[in-house]
Amino acid sequence: MKSEQLFSVEGYGVVVTGGASGLGLAFTEALAENGARVTMLDVDAPGLTLESQRLQQLGYQVRAETLDVRDHATLERAFDAALAAHGRLDVVFANAGVDSGPGFMGDWTGSQQSRNAEGALCNYTDQRWQRVIDINLTGIFATLRAAARIMKPQRSGRLILTTSVAAYQCEPAIGSAYMAAKAGAAHLMRCVAQELAAYNITVNAIAPGFFVTNIGGGHAKNPALQAAMGKNIPMHRVGFPEDIKGLALFLASPASAYLTGQQISIDGGWTLGAAD
Ligand code: NAD
Repeated sequence: MKSEQLFSVEGYGVVVTGGASGLGLAFTEALAENGARVTMLDVDAPGLTLESQRLQQLGYQVRAETLDVRDHATLERAFDAALAAHGRLDVVFANAGVDSGPGFMGDWTGSQQSRNAEGALCNYTDQRWQRVIDINLTGIFATLRAAARIMKPQRSGRLILTTSVAAYQCEPAIGSAYMAAKAGAAHLMRCVAQELAAYNITVNAIAPGFFVTNIGGGHAKNPALQAAMGKNIPMHRVGFPEDIKGLALFLASPASAYLTGQQISIDGGWTLGAAD
């Protein structure tokens, strides 16, 4: 294969959950800009309409459907509709996710990070725990299952999960349900990768560090927070959705054909430890 074809996703059929915003929107753009046909699934109907129409006006082949990844029956039907619309299913980004809810990046500072009222273990409600697990872990499971149902008979496909560096690094600010869900998703990825390898389906995870998106109410858009975070990151800056497009294209394209069961961190060196 010529090297220019290594990264070709021309004509691919793609599904992205959480495609209306942030990293999911970047995955959508990365694939659509390179000739793929993308179905964007998201619970945010206005955001989905806005972004899908913007991309359609740019000439990209995208379609959109509003759904909640916690509604597994609707998710299954959305995969059938995407297959019917695109004629094929090559790549799925299981990406939709939420922060840990009230208290996330709250009004604590310094050593109080792990002890803020709502986020402390003894105060952690069942409801708070379950919401994050249902979306960030069970939602990924349901997305992978819906995709595998279609990909196994065709004996090809790419499944790409969005986990987080929180899957292996404790981040008190984020909340324990989020970290447990991301660690669970990372290991689910490995199990599914092993199961589906014989079907020529690769399964990998992207583990982002600190990216400026709308998660957590868009707190990361605050320049003062970006500057503070940048001091802890060896590359001296936070990540932006554009930064993740190359890795998404790599994992979706023929270039990564023999890579499976891997979680790839993309964090400007954050998890290497302090450099300064
Ligand atoms: P974002 O809020 O900008 O985008 C997330 C999208 O998912 C939104 O459009 C939202 O409407 C959608 N969504 C939320 N719940 C949903 C549900 N139940 N069903 C369908 N769609 C739903 O945030 P983001 O930062 O782009 O998050 C994308 C993924 O990246 C998440 O899994 C998140 O945990 C992960 N992540 C983000 C960062 C970061 O720094 N931004 C770091 C590590 C991991």
